[in-house]
Amino acid sequence: TDVLGPSPLDNALQNILEALQNINDGEVNDSILALAEADRNDFGIVIATADGHVYEAGDSRKCFSIQSISKTFTYAMALEDHTFDHVDSKIDVEPSGDAFNEISIDPQTKVPANPMINAGAIAATWLVKDGQDQTRRERILETYSRCAGRELDLDIDMQKQEHDAGDRNRALGWLLASAGVIEGDPTDALEDYFAQCCVMVDTKDLALMGATLASGGVNPRTGERVFRADTVERVLSVMNSCGMYDDAGDWFVRVGLPAKSGVGGGIIAVVPGQLAVATFSPALNEHGTSVRGKAACEHISQSMDLHFARGP
Ligand code: GLN
Repeated sequence: TDVLGPSPLDNALQNILEALQNINDGEVNDSILALAEADRNDFGIVIATADGHVYEAGDSRKCFSIQSISKTFTYAMALEDHTFDHVDSKIDVEPSGDAFNEISIDPQTKVPANPMINAGAIAATWLVKDGQDQTRRERILETYSRCAGRELDLDIDMQKQEHDAGDRNRALGWLLASAGVIEGDPTDALEDYFAQCCVMVDTKDLALMGATLASGGVNPRTGERVFRADTVERVLSVMNSCGMYDDAGDWFVRVGLPAKSGVGGGIIAVVPGQLAVATFSPALNEHGTSVRGKAACEHISQSMDLHFARGP
């Protein structure tokens, strides 16, 4: 699309964007200043196919923080650093129906419900191992970068703000420690979790990260295998039931695709074997889902017949 100008699919995304940009519902997250300063008018939509084509409209090259979309990729790393059984003994795969930052450990199993809520995500970060000559944080950043197909960076100022505003997540970390999910002091894992939330991406990066999942773990642009196919199957399954927290049911009814939201305003939705949709718009509904992003994903899913439950 760069060389030839807009393709019909670029134009279709532009039309969707124009049809939805008058939606002004939702609020920008204000848990930290760096998020509160987002421009609620920003709107980007990108489709990346499993064979590496990219179609984009709007503010698709504007950077924002990945936030909870990071949980998807860190969970994949945890699954590959251990056996699935070991990860399952620390983090369940059941939808919680609770808000993302619920102070929760299942009373019966004594583990977090799933790796998409903060409790499970912090445990997943803790499970990721250091590399041979890399810290865990460096490995996380490098793995996200391989999914995006370019070197990503984290916003150090925002990371400090996440640290300063992180008491609720610290409470979760220590709850996990008291339950024996995290063994020892959770502080380092918490700091790495804050850092992974502050990795800066644009909508195109997110779409390519999603396309890496759509193609079973191979980045379609670089050809590099980042994750095993069985890891990706597991990750997409958990995104399907838990990726949108207490918005997961309504999301699946409307969009019918495994997806993950972040309070920075990003969303990825994945059609396994085919493509990923990524959207960016900072105003969020009460579940932390981008309002325009959800509308765009619904529109794309419906108009392109991508809904999982659609009949022939
Ligand atoms: N940094 C945020 C937190 O940990 C991420 C939440 C989100 O994107 N839903 O609370």
